[in-house]
Amino acid sequence: MKLEDWLHEGWWQWREMHWESGTIKTEQNCGKQMCEMGRCKEKSYPMNLPSASIIVCFYNEALSALLRTVQSVLNRSPVNLLHEIILVDDNSDFTNLKSELEEYIQNSLPRKVRLVRNSEREGLIRGRMIGASHATGDVLVFLDSHCEVNEMWLQPLLAPIKQDRKTVVCPVIDIINADTLIYSSSPIVRGGFNWGLHFKWDPVPASMLNGPEGPTAAIKSPTMAGGLFAMNRNYFNELGQYDSGMDIWGGENLEISFRIWMCGGRLEIIPCSRVGHIFRKRRPYGSPGGQDTMAHNSLRLTHVWMDEYKEQYFALRPELRVQNYGDISERVQLRKRLNCKSFKWYLDNVYPEMQVIGPNEKARMKQPLLVNKAVKRPKVRQRGRIRHLQTSKCISAQNHPSQKAGIVVVKECDLSDPDQIWVYDEEHELILANLLCLDMAEMHSSDSPRLMKCHGSGGSQQWTLGKNNRIYQVSAGQCLQVVDPADIKGYIAMAICDGSAAQQWQIES
Ligand code: UDP
Ligand code: MN
Repeated sequence: MKLEDWLHEGWWQWREMHWESGTIKTEQNCGKQMCEMGRCKEKSYPMNLPSASIIVCFYNEALSALLRTVQSVLNRSPVNLLHEIILVDDNSDFTNLKSELEEYIQNSLPRKVRLVRNSEREGLIRGRMIGASHATGDVLVFLDSHCEVNEMWLQPLLAPIKQDRKTVVCPVIDIINADTLIYSSSPIVRGGFNWGLHFKWDPVPASMLNGPEGPTAAIKSPTMAGGLFAMNRNYFNELGQYDSGMDIWGGENLEISFRIWMCGGRLEIIPCSRVGHIFRKRRPYGSPGGQDTMAHNSLRLTHVWMDEYKEQYFALRPELRVQNYGDISERVQLRKRLNCKSFKWYLDNVYPEMQVIGPNEKARMKQPLLVNKAVKRPKVRQRGRIRHLQTSKCISAQNHPSQKAGIVVVKECDLSDPDQIWVYDEEHELILANLLCLDMAEMHSSDSPRLMKCHGSGGSQQWTLGKNNRIYQVSAGQCLQVVDPADIKGYIAMAICDGSAAQQWQIES
């Protein structure tokens, strides 16, 4: 099929779906928070905002997804504010990303859209730096290559940067379903992280939503998710861009978040700017050498930015203490040159909700702690089967409930089987068959939660059974969900809480 034909088909398919569900509904079917978001429409922005260079770095991206990103930016950004779109091909090998893409840009897109090719695979971190080095607009706006920007997405990002060049802003990341490509809005959450140095979503403190601007006010965020943000271009350069010693994927979002806050900037989520992103169940690529780049990159950021709190990370990943992470001297110098504050300052002032147990516990005694009360067994709150309402199946061990690190799945409920009985205790642990605790430590959020020895320290074993029948993982800030209700394998994973049927559970005693 020729590109035009194929594009035509793919493009219209998603456009139709988009018009049905793309914009935030302001009247029907909206929860209180969403209804209030209608107030975004009442906001006005200065005319003379800074201009934006959009940087989209991609590696083996589906052409339709890439063009959805580009086309939505072209359609929904005021011409005078859109300085350019720079596409950085990270040495993809999909054939339709070669001359076909080039011709399409040449023939069908405005001159503002430019393509830069990396001659080697650099990874998204150096890839974005390369994109930024070609940019000439006032503000850099980074997007993943599988996004759709919503109406009025750009002005709300540019306005706070115009007001204060050291403010870095993120849109709310709406969800584009990876299977259906349908766009739906996300709840308003903000960025955090856990001591495994994985990004997580946190609830927004109510006090931040109740100001005069209500839920449309900018929300201070301890971290950013990574792919989608806007930053004054000169400030990006002054602040040290990214750590070019980081490879392929991972960790750079926490690194830049810590750096922004510790070195005199601020990071905000802008509820009135909405950009959809395809959240994929798995990342469809590896790293060239099969290296765990997340660990490599996290090590670099730990050693440069986290001071004594790197011990929190090593307590969870002791094997990484001795792993080589390359030369970080330039980044250490950068931190000195910018006169950045300590990591303790960051925790105390930007992320006081972060709990510290273990190595640096004493230093933060004034914070509420989750203390290991291992001597006394916590009281049982509820006991019974956990039924998934949509499939009517029960959470069970995939193999045997005594098998450490075994995953859990949903299976047919068997009322006579004691191995399907869970205890939910007052420490918020979920214990199967009186043996092991449901745990999501040190995994990628698309993996299944596992059964691990109960450690009594909360975190990865802390769950809340809450509103909408959800099971919420406190340290990941995500909800338990059945991956595919039609699949008899019954896999369970963590996902952003969206109140969908796949995320509804009930304990039946
Ligand atoms: N990417 C890249 N080179 C790589 C890996 C990723 O250019 O080696 C791009 C990728 O195409 C995407 C962005 O970087 O546009 C972020 O990656 P991804 O979406 O896979 O990360 P996720 O959203 O899953 O965190
Ligand atoms: Mn992505």
